[in-house]
Amino acid sequence: MKFVTFILIIIVLSCVFYSYRPFMNFKGKDSIANGGNAKFKEEDYARERKKMVEQQIMARGVKDKKVLDAMEKVPRHMFVPEGYRRYSYYDQPLPIGLGQTISQPYIVALMTEMLDVDNEDTVLEIGTGSGYQAAVLSTIVKEVYTIEIIEALGLRAEESLKNLGYDNVNVKISDGSLGWPDKGPFDAIIVTAAAEKIPDPLISQLKPGGRMVIPVNNTFYSQDLLIVEKNDAGNIDAKKTIPVRFVPLVEGEKVAK
Ligand code: SAH
Repeated sequence: MKFVTFILIIIVLSCVFYSYRPFMNFKGKDSIANGGNAKFKEEDYARERKKMVEQQIMARGVKDKKVLDAMEKVPRHMFVPEGYRRYSYYDQPLPIGLGQTISQPYIVALMTEMLDVDNEDTVLEIGTGSGYQAAVLSTIVKEVYTIEIIEALGLRAEESLKNLGYDNVNVKISDGSLGWPDKGPFDAIIVTAAAEKIPDPLISQLKPGGRMVIPVNNTFYSQDLLIVEKNDAGNIDAKKTIPVRFVPLVEGEKVAK
């Protein structure tokens, strides 16, 4: 009996270790591409990205061709800190420093599809983080405005976006729950941090006929991903979609350095 318990403990510990592997910044062997500690090449990442689109995104029902193309094109690994880069195309969020995360690829694709935007639209994003979601959007829409409250993250994202040539993305360091009044109203707004409720300034900066996708806290310690539509009369209709888990939207606080 003791032996069985021992084996069970080993199995449980292995599972825990395996799921948190990318969060442990250790230098070890890795199975994907090239093997060992050899540096991955761009073609290896491109192959991983194609697999990610097929196995994580299309397989779960995302269909919008613009979104699938964007996910296949944007080099997610360039938005992931070096220590975690080899895990860039894993089916999970990853740490980007300062307690924040880059969202799971599927969630980025799903939220982008939900926004239902095209090349005539101007989009506001709250929670720049790594800049990855902004880059994905920038390949689809006319202009992206994105706000980050942690200065170090905002500056790093701005730099990555500039280096990779995403010229239609504008980054601001500020409290995004106040929106970006002088650039609005927006055709669509995406919030990539968990709100207590939909911030009023964001509702007023959404164009009539526009859409907002936002995770709002529920009673189960996670959030409901809401699609909020504003009709031509300016009324709001919010639909719950799936449960998600995001880092919190910090409201009414000073910008963190
Ligand atoms: N979209 C990002 C991931 C977002 S993580 C990406 O593609 O990488 C959520 C981000 O929201 C964090 O970087 C956090 O600092 C930021 N954030 C939290 N509260 C905020 C606020 N009030 N205004 C702007 N950004 C905020």
